[in-house]
This record gives sequence, structure tokens and C-alpha cells, in this order.
Amino acid sequence: MTPAVATVAAKPAKQPKPLPAPNSDFYELYETLSAEELAIVKRVRAFMETKAAPLVTKYWVDDAFPFELLPAVKELGIGGLAMHGYGCAGGSLALLGFVLMEIARVDPSFATFIGVHVGLAMGSIYIDGSEEQKQKWLPPMARFEKIGCFGLTEPLVGSGASGGLTTTAKREGDTWILNGEKRWIGNAPWCDVSIIWARDLADNQVKGFIVENKTTPGFSVEKIEHKIALKMVQNGHITLKDVRVPEANRLQGGNSFRDTAKVLKMTRYAVAWMATGCAMGAYEAALKYAQQRLQFGKPIGSFQLVQDLLARMIANITASQCLIVRQAQLHAEGKLTDAHAALAKAFATSKCRETVAWARELLGGNGIVADYNVARFFADCEALYSYEGTFQMQNLIVGKAITGFGAFA
Ligand SMILES: Cc1cc2nc3c(=O)[nH]c(=O)nc-3n(C[C@H](O)[C@H](O)[C@H](O)COP(=O)(O)OP(=O)(O)OC[C@H]3O[C@@H](n4cnc5c(N)ncnc54)[C@H](O)[C@@H]3O)c2cc1C
Repeated sequence: MTPAVATVAAKPAKQPKPLPAPNSDFYELYETLSAEELAIVKRVRAFMETKAAPLVTKYWVDDAFPFELLPAVKELGIGGLAMHGYGCAGGSLALLGFVLMEIARVDPSFATFIGVHVGLAMGSIYIDGSEEQKQKWLPPMARFEKIGCFGLTEPLVGSGASGGLTTTAKREGDTWILNGEKRWIGNAPWCDVSIIWARDLADNQVKGFIVENKTTPGFSVEKIEHKIALKMVQNGHITLKDVRVPEANRLQGGNSFRDTAKVLKMTRYAVAWMATGCAMGAYEAALKYAQQRLQFGKPIGSFQLVQDLLARMIANITASQCLIVRQAQLHAEGKLTDAHAALAKAFATSKCRETVAWARELLGGNGIVADYNVARFFADCEALYSYEGTFQMQNLIVGKAITGFGAFA
């Protein structure tokens, strides 16, 4: 009989535990969406990750707009999200927010292009236009066949737009004559339709006009060169010289700056989502980098100080996400105020600014090279922080609501 030999079963080699995939939805806020809404958000994510992501850095570096993406954008069904009727995509304002956050997570310039066209240009017509104007302009804009821009800021009037525009509108019978300049106008160098805000010389009130860029004599646009942020967005300096606009193209519900502000409330709402998306994109790229980059023979993500940076980033993102989801709920409950939107815009853009700077820091030298996918978010956040009203102006809107004192006109 063969004696039994004690054998030690060979232990299988220990497989390293797979590292967690970067996930910037730490509190599972995407679960607040319905299944139908989530499917739309996933469609947008797939488009951004497979079609847009491979192109955006090159276009950003070249200061050029990726026109080649437009046919696929038309198929996404996001033209006129949160607007109802007139060929618009409909859906909730929360869905619009998640979609813009998804787009900005891959590219804040592309999100800005959509935000200007849908939020500012279509939004002005949807909020301040007459029934006829909505029927005429919104369907082709929802199909991305006609692209719009929004001209409020001027070379000498930025934050003070509510206190007095220098662009003037003078009525002569059924025609308005516009004179002045507009600066920083996104999409203006190539788009079809501009919403121009001007001061009516008769009553000093701000009024909105729909101007057809390509066929209106006296309307000219010069592209602003050498930007360091949102480089894919084409911003224009518009000159209006005795531009004649029919009364039929005056926004019939835009009779004072209060009506302009209704549009700005909604777009500030949207920029808070875009800034959160911008921070998510930078965080996910930085986390991936921290899992792969070795120093002292170890992944830098294993060092305590690097983990501290990453934890601070996801905390900023999560706080912003909770705030903007609540912002959407307030809108759904009919309670969203200018101050709510201003606070969300100020908070999310300032937290984004902190987050993208930490992401850039985490990549060391590679953080300043566009090819490593963090420098773009870092630079783009600067524009998100200042446009649609600067951080200070948003805080002054909040300040007025909480103190009862207006600190500016
Ligand atoms: C990339 C980009 C895209 C843009 N797109 C558009 C667009 O499509 N359409 C459009 O109309 N505009 C657009 N803008 C303009 C944008 O909205 C303005 O830049 C913004 O409102 C600030 O105006 P400003 O640049 O003239 O700065 P200013 O108003 O000159 O402000 C300069 C500084 O002074 C501070 N300040 C001003 N007043 C006060 C005050 N009372 N109290 C405290 N601080 C104050 C500001 O916060 C800021 O820090 C865009 C801007 C950028 C950068």
C-alpha cells in the first residue's frame, strides 16, 4: 500500500483586483432620471465618447469648429430639449441639464455651442417670441438646419447690460433701425440667425430682434481670435450699421430687460450643469492617469496626498450635482428663481474651477499639454466662470435676494 503523501495544493497566483473604473456619479444621481430619459442621456454619452472625443482636441487646438459632427448631432433628437411643440424635443429641464452635463464631460466647447443655439437663441424665441415667430423659427432651429446666436454683450457693456445698452433701435413705421456693436457672441461668425438686444430710443427699454445674419445689409461679424478657452466655439464681434429689421422680427414678448433676464435665468441654470460636466471630464481623466502613472515604483493614485486631491474633486462634483438636480426639481415645482439659478451658476463654476486646477496639478507637466485631455477642461472652465454673468454678478443677484438690498442697477 502506498503511503499517503501529504501534498500542499498549489495556490493559484493571486490576481490583482481590477481597479475601479472612473465614475463621477458618486451619489448615483443619474438614477433620478426615468428609464426613457436615461436612454437619451446614454445615447448622447455614446455620441460624445465615440464620435466627438476623438476629434475635439485637434479642433480645440486649431481654434476651429467641428462642422463634421453636425449631421450626427441632428440625429440625436436634442434640438429644443425642454421646449414643447414647434418640432422641439420636449422633455424635462432635468433631462436638458443631464444632456448638457454629458456633452461638457467630453467637451465644454461643444456644450457651449449647443447651449448658445438651443438655450439662448431658441430660448429667446420660445420665451419672448409670438406664436407666429415660434412657428416660423423654432422648427428649423430644432432640426439644426438654422443655427442661432444671442447678442447681448457689447465691447463697452458687459456685466452692466441691465443698466444700459449702447446698441440702439429706432422705429420708423414697420421697420426698426439698429446701430451698435456686440462682442463675444458665440456661433456668430457662421450661424444663420442672431437675437440682437438693443435699447429702444423711444422708451429706453431693451427689446429683442431676430436678424438674419447672411442676408441683412449693414450686419457684419468679425471672428475673435487668440482665445485661450472654449477655442472650438467661434465668438464674434458684430457691427450693426443702419440694420433694417421688420417689426415682424421684433420679439413680441421682449419689452424690457426683465424679459431678457427670463432667458438668462434658464441659461444660467444650464451653465451650472455644463460646469459640473466640465469638472467630471477633468476628474475622470485625472483619476485614470493616477491609476496608471508610476512614481517611486507605485501608481501615484496610491499616495495619500494624491488621494486627497481626488477625494476633494469628487466632493466638489457631488456637491454641484446635488445642487443642480435640486435646481431642476425647483423648476419642475414652479419655484426656480433668478437667485436660485445664479447661486447654482456661481457655485458650480467656482467648484469646477477648483476641480480642474487640481486635475491639472495631478498630471504634473502633462497637465499643460492638450493631448492629455485635462488642459482643455482647465482652460475652458475660465470662460464658463465668466460668461452668462460673472461669479461676482451671480453673487450680487443672490445677495439682493437674501439681504433685500440691490448692489447694482
Ligand atoms: C467665451 C465667451 C462666450 C460668450 N458668449 C456670449 C454670447 O454668446 N452672447 C453674449 O451676449 N455674451 C457672451 N459673452 C459675454 C459674457 O457674458 C461677458 O464676458 C460677461 O457678462 C462679463 O462681461 P465683461 O467681459 O464685459 O466683463 P466686465 O463686465 O467688464 O467685468 C470685469 C470684471 O468686473 C467685475 N464687475 C463688474 N461689475 C461689477 C460689480 N458691480 N460688482 C463687482 N464686480 C463687478 C466682473 O465680475 C469682472 O470680474 C461671452 C463671453 C465669453 C468669454
